[in-house]
Amino acid sequence: MKIAYATDLHGDAAKYRRLLDVARAAGAGAVVNGGDMLTLEDDLHRTQREFIVDFLDRHFAEYEKAGIRHLGYLGNDDLGIHDACFEKVCSKYRHVVNLAQRKYDIGLFEFIGMNWVADYPFQLKDRCRKDRADYVFQRQLGPGVLSTEKGFEELPDWPAYAAALPTIEQELAALPKPKDAAKAVYVIHMPPARVGLDVCQNGDKVGSAAIYEFIEKTQPLLTLHGHIHESPARGGRWNAQMGKTWCVQPGQSRGESLSWVAIDLESMKMERFEEALIRGGISRAP
Ligand SMILES: [Zn+2]
Repeated sequence: MKIAYATDLHGDAAKYRRLLDVARAAGAGAVVNGGDMLTLEDDLHRTQREFIVDFLDRHFAEYEKAGIRHLGYLGNDDLGIHDACFEKVCSKYRHVVNLAQRKYDIGLFEFIGMNWVADYPFQLKDRCRKDRADYVFQRQLGPGVLSTEKGFEELPDWPAYAAALPTIEQELAALPKPKDAAKAVYVIHMPPARVGLDVCQNGDKVGSAAIYEFIEKTQPLLTLHGHIHESPARGGRWNAQMGKTWCVQPGQSRGESLSWVAIDLESMKMERFEEALIRGGISRAP
């Protein structure tokens, strides 16, 4: 089975449309979306909900029609208060799966998702966790906040609050287990440390040590990551091998193109593409 993988589309409808087109043209059985699915414009309480209801709902109907599965989840920039709305829209379609902390089988292949991220300096903490018990917090850009229906709620002491939450290490241990690691595909928004898929614009490497250790120990067929859009351009690589596992991080360009990866899960042949977007027009394949 072939899959098309893209991540960090941040509510760009043209990228979503292009991804469906290229998946169709490539004969992909499934599109995997690695998170941070919603727009970052204006008031996120309103605009992100509108993106789910006004765009994703109709877009998912096209997957249903095409007979292509869409496996995805919201990411750290998508407000936690929109989870229920996203779940409701996904559940309308047989081909659409909210993969957050879930396992979904396609034939013998087992897809397992996790959208918690190791903490960062940014304020929105809805999906943030300490990486491991010994995690040292980075300098924060302001007080941590959580989304609520009434707006953002400020946390008086984010490190103390985070200390009471499970760590990334514990969240990984709590995920559904695959029957056969050799057929397992983990979709983990946060990239692992130490393999060059986590390089920020300033050269900092921010990947998760807990995720690295989990992959080393579990040895799945494939892991799919995102989160650090600039890493492939800055770090010079979009995939890495860890023993029997291929780790893939296609990044996402800010410009007028869609970054995505085609992967054949049987042969493990894979290729990364930068696809020019057609804004405003019809972007369907001929
Ligand atoms: Zn992210």
